[in-house]
Amino acid sequence: MNPSLYIVIPCYNEQEVLPITAPMFLEKLRSLSAAGKISDESRVLFVNDGSKDKTWEIIRGLAAADPHYLGICQSRNRGHQNAVLAGLMEAKDRCDITISIDCDGQDDINAMDAMVDAYLAGCDVVYGVRSSRETDTFFKRATAQGFYKFLSGMGAEVVYNHADYRLISSRVLQEFANFKEVNLFLRGLIPLVGFKSTTVEYARAERLAGKSHYPLKKMIGLAVDGITSLSVKPLRLITGFGVFVAFFSFIGCLWALITALCGKAVAGWASMTCIVCFVSGVQLICLGIIGEYIGKIYLETKGRPRYIISERSWEERDRQASAPKAGERGPEGS
Ligand code: UDP
Ligand code: MG
Repeated sequence: MNPSLYIVIPCYNEQEVLPITAPMFLEKLRSLSAAGKISDESRVLFVNDGSKDKTWEIIRGLAAADPHYLGICQSRNRGHQNAVLAGLMEAKDRCDITISIDCDGQDDINAMDAMVDAYLAGCDVVYGVRSSRETDTFFKRATAQGFYKFLSGMGAEVVYNHADYRLISSRVLQEFANFKEVNLFLRGLIPLVGFKSTTVEYARAERLAGKSHYPLKKMIGLAVDGITSLSVKPLRLITGFGVFVAFFSFIGCLWALITALCGKAVAGWASMTCIVCFVSGVQLICLGIIGEYIGKIYLETKGRPRYIISERSWEERDRQASAPKAGERGPEGS
């Protein structure tokens, strides 16, 4: 039997682009189904990430018009990573494979054919990798490439130029459900689950409408999350740097001692001030890095839910349907 596919799409304030891209996703689902690669039980699952515009109304309208569209709504905005997670966790028990993709049309949906082919050939995870970034602005390209280089320099290994366009089988998702961390960095965590994986290249286009939600500040936040989630290398660098400074401090002590013993000690205000400023600056940076990890531990210990779903598009129809028998509930039965 052909596998069922759920396309998981996070949406935050996307009222401009959703009406353009939603039919494209459905069309892709139909063409994959017509090619005999996936079953007709496949769905397009939108995750409304607490949008303030008409995104959820649009999703509900789509779900009412065609049963192949489904939508879930988060109780508030929780960020892209949590929105993708919510969709994947919702989908994992309903299908055989998921493909997560942004809703703005930037990622080439035609790469899904190759992804499903790779799944049918035995891969459980297929990473979509951008073959070029020609359509990105110079700034976006430079920051994104810097992002990957910085991550790998800090010991956080990720698939280069892979964002969150990927196929994951439900059995990998079942295992991934045991990763309980709130500091989410999916593109670094999924490889940790293991299983057979491969990559599929695709060209990155421009946003079809609307504007990006990832300015430089958020990119830096994501990089920090990625590093603290995957690596303790910054802490080791601090230790290494501490040893380095301690070595020169030792030489400095010897020098000061010998100078004093030779009776040549003079008031060295400038050198003293420089050393104090330098060392205290370094100490503050180190404290900040350690604090970043402590902050992450603090958040992890609380164990708060990573997402809260306030509404599901099929629930309303379920409610309206007359007395459904146990076991018949669910999106397919709606
Ligand atoms: N997104 C989300 N929650 C957020 C921010 C973004 O669900 O808080 C979604 C957004 O709707 C889009 C995807 O994440 O589908 C990627 O966002 P965007 O296209 O703005 O990022 P960029 O491609 O510019 O890096
Ligand atoms: Mg985008």
